[in-house]
Amino acid sequence: MAVNQMASNSSLEIQFSHPGNILKGFANFFYLSNPEEFMYKDVERVPNLVYQSWPYFLTLIALENIVLWFQRKPLVRLNDGITSLSHAIILESGRILSRGAEHWAYLYIYNNYRILDLPWNSIYTWYAAAILVDFCYYWIHRAAHEVHFLWAQHQVHHSSEDYNLTIGLRQSIFYGWSAFVFYLPMALFIPPTQYIIHQYFSYLYQFWIHTETIDNLGPLEWIFNTPKHHRFHHGSNLSCLDKNYGGVLIIWDRMFGTFAESKPNLEIIYGLVYNMPSFNPVYLQVFYDMNIINKWKAMSTRQDKMWSVVKGPSWLPGKPWTGANEDKVDVQKREKYDVQLPLWLNLYLLLHFVLVVIGFQQLVLTHMEMSPLSVLLFISYILFSLTSIGLVFDNNRYSCVGESIRCLLFLLYVEQYGLQYLHLFIIVYMASFLFWFVYCLRILNVKIKAKII
Ligand SMILES: [Zn+2]
Ligand SMILES: [Zn+2]
Repeated sequence: MAVNQMASNSSLEIQFSHPGNILKGFANFFYLSNPEEFMYKDVERVPNLVYQSWPYFLTLIALENIVLWFQRKPLVRLNDGITSLSHAIILESGRILSRGAEHWAYLYIYNNYRILDLPWNSIYTWYAAAILVDFCYYWIHRAAHEVHFLWAQHQVHHSSEDYNLTIGLRQSIFYGWSAFVFYLPMALFIPPTQYIIHQYFSYLYQFWIHTETIDNLGPLEWIFNTPKHHRFHHGSNLSCLDKNYGGVLIIWDRMFGTFAESKPNLEIIYGLVYNMPSFNPVYLQVFYDMNIINKWKAMSTRQDKMWSVVKGPSWLPGKPWTGANEDKVDVQKREKYDVQLPLWLNLYLLLHFVLVVIGFQQLVLTHMEMSPLSVLLFISYILFSLTSIGLVFDNNRYSCVGESIRCLLFLLYVEQYGLQYLHLFIIVYMASFLFWFVYCLRILNVKIKAKII
């Protein structure tokens, strides 16, 4: 099934060729677009708004840092920012591999069991779909925090100790797969094209609320989810837990008792209650699954084992669904996980991350013409690269091995397929390989000497 492929291959240059298109691109982030321009009869014609919005993501991240600089607030940290962007690449890689299969169940139910034929090009259908997608999102997000095995995926989004626009792109690759069930009742009457396009708009809206540059939006705070409400949601402080689940609208939290107003004197401590000190994005995607297994093992009865997976992450036998406050940690001010690297190494990592992004862009544009095995190998290399870059950010002892192999694999690939136009890439990767190889030898030499002594 090739849902959204047409849009995946659409040209970004077209969008940026006209100032009016640029303004429309920004309007998409605030649900201010003209609905009639986003109504489609066929699923294949729905544009991939997330992919098309990458230039806007990067522009807004740059703008945010300029504002933060004027506000004398900390700018995005290179290690944390690149980790967040790496998660976005991992998420998009999952979408390329799935080829739209996550929408299969929705399409199947709509095509075979729908009870209403709402017109796909009606403004009423558009608004009904917008509200229903947001209503379902509230329950998905709530379940993601209050059902342990779903939290194992969603924790990725909460794993940064910072709060800036890059966090809006830090998502779990498996989250969409575990969440799609919540949208299925909509398939009884909402056309699939409307369902898919509102997923994109919801994603774009939730990008810009991850910022500390916007304080209060006045009366809008009553109805809409805002940076202020969502900052509170990202806190690991006890009073912040399990609050403000809304996506675009905050009214659902007000209706279902999960709303909390941000307290002016509370310093919000971002991140997980037990933060994982790592900048390795692939590890951050999966490490929490061990917690599920360990909790399962720790339970004595079969029923408690089942509840340990289904009830909240803080649940304990005999306690409420989301756990008792006396059993939870009230996170106080703590030092953020950070590793100081020399400037030249940070520049090296930034350069190589940009090269990975360029490679990924190439995959996005050409994957439909590639064999499934080639796509799989390409994505594996991208994930290996992101892991290796994360290991260097962590100053991991094996990072020199990872970087040597990564650079060597690229050079072997170029040698095999004779990609002559990549001269600059080859020089960068050759120099990088030599550097890390010598670095590895030096470490090895030191270890051998230490053994002899
Ligand atoms: Zn959340
Ligand atoms: Zn968030």
